[in-house]
Amino acid sequence: MSLKSILKISQADNVAIAVNLEGIPEGMWIIDGLISLEQVPMGHKITLEDIPQGGPVIRYGYTIGIARTPISAGSWVQEHLLEIPEAPALDEIPYHPVNWQVPEKLEGYTFEGYRNPDGTVGTKNILGISMSVQCVAGMANYVIDKIKKELLPLYPNVDDVIALSHHYGCGVAINAPAAAIPIRTIHNLARNPNLGGEIMVLGLGCEKLRPETITGQDAGNILYMQDESFTGFHEMVDAVLETAKIHLSKLNARRRETCPVADLVVGMQCGGSDAFSGLTGNPVAGYAADLIVRAGGTVFFSEVTEVRDAIGQLVARAADAEVAQKLVTAMKWYDDYLQNGLADRTANTTPGNKIGGLSNIVEKALGSVVKSGTMPIVDVVAPGERVKKKGLQFVSTPASDFVCGTLQLAAGMNLHVFITGRGTPYGLTMVPVIKISSNSKLANRWHDLIDFDAGLVATGEKTIEELGWSLFHDMLEVASGRRKVATDILGIYNDLVLFNPGPLT
Ligand code: CA
Repeated sequence: MSLKSILKISQADNVAIAVNLEGIPEGMWIIDGLISLEQVPMGHKITLEDIPQGGPVIRYGYTIGIARTPISAGSWVQEHLLEIPEAPALDEIPYHPVNWQVPEKLEGYTFEGYRNPDGTVGTKNILGISMSVQCVAGMANYVIDKIKKELLPLYPNVDDVIALSHHYGCGVAINAPAAAIPIRTIHNLARNPNLGGEIMVLGLGCEKLRPETITGQDAGNILYMQDESFTGFHEMVDAVLETAKIHLSKLNARRRETCPVADLVVGMQCGGSDAFSGLTGNPVAGYAADLIVRAGGTVFFSEVTEVRDAIGQLVARAADAEVAQKLVTAMKWYDDYLQNGLADRTANTTPGNKIGGLSNIVEKALGSVVKSGTMPIVDVVAPGERVKKKGLQFVSTPASDFVCGTLQLAAGMNLHVFITGRGTPYGLTMVPVIKISSNSKLANRWHDLIDFDAGLVATGEKTIEELGWSLFHDMLEVASGRRKVATDILGIYNDLVLFNPGPLT
């Protein structure tokens, strides 16, 4: 039995979460005057008082659902008992900035990183091979295998060589307005700080997306496979290897140097969430996010559908009226995008979320937004764009883990924090991904896939503040290359996946 059986977040809440590993059995004394009427699984909600039909079910101090039938105190609040509230109307959100006190600056925290000519800092030292079109992806993989076997051992300071593979480049309406998103994503992925400005580009020759647009550099750095000077596949491969040697020797000469936390660009994301995510993992990540921002660094959060229902809170945290408007515009764009596909925000929650105790997207969003911490939001960045400021920002992306991660890499992320409750082996090659479990059950079962257990908050063994600081220190260790994350030890990585809202031809 855990130290506590339930956890309630806000004073106004009329439900609490079962935190026992075994859940709450029927007939258990919970608090004075409250006995469970039925078995409530771990992570699910129990009512603390009688809720009449049509009455609000309140968690995080907000209405997450309307009771379809009367729900007695001590009941398990199952998804089918709740009506989902309307999404907040975007035209009616006033901008009343929160009375915000500037927190004390954090001085003296550093990490060891690779400083780039453009001022950004890498946390890894990777040779990236981008491409203008999927046609050359098979060849890129062939070459990369060869580079890993034959060249990489000769350049010991280079961590890896990776393909920036994608499905774009041809067979697409390249001039459609929405094409701007995948195109700038490919361009900005190549500028990620962990690639050290030494990107190589493979082109085919006849494709619509011109390889020059990827680097913005002269064509001298680009190999076109249709170049008539190549006779046969192996001549192309040899040419790529020769070019790779030039970039590898430059990367190999780089050394880590002491950099302030101001050079960290941390992307926050969650996936496979459960009802604990908003109680443990996300608040701990949010606490660490505040520390990074207080130390002068950059943090961004994303996943439009997972914050849409919390838009009122976000607008209140906007640093100025322009940012408030940008937040609303980003949400509107996404509402329209979903509507064009005859869907809405309720398409977000997964069967696993629901088994994990999240009844609907409102409950998920209120828990999700906690990972952004409490600092003011200083900018909103469109999908595929790169951040221009320091501090906390919203990078507009879908919630799909790989699409969000890819867009966050394009935004300039050099360290990723990923919170999960149900568990996912998610990993990215380009940056270290610190995976946080929202519950200790998962952290114990997936001892070799989870980097940080935030479940100790639920059982009362640790506070959010204690674990927030400990995560902050872990982030600096990982960014410095002194500690390896689970996915880097195992070498398991997901694909880069572009967000392409535009038409194919
Ligand atoms: Ca996600």
